[in-house]
Amino acid sequence: MTTQPFQSRNGETLLKPVLTEEEYRSFQNEYAGFCLACGETAYNVEPDARRYVCETCSKPKVYGFEELLLMNLIVLQ
Ligand SMILES: [Zn+2]
Repeated sequence: MTTQPFQSRNGETLLKPVLTEEEYRSFQNEYAGFCLACGETAYNVEPDARRYVCETCSKPKVYGFEELLLMNLIVLQ
């Protein structure tokens, strides 16, 4: 997995994950989440989680991978 910066609606620069379908499936199965603020992977996150607080940067920007896909914030390679 790599990351790609993008601008959010309120002008913040955030990161979205760039990953293969295989990586996406394993993250989904492992209950992993992704922090849009710092790009860290989080664990014990439901696939449809939204706005969980990130353990790394303390911002409420952790989303489950299914939710990220619905929000069109995953780049599949
Ligand atoms: Zn973070």
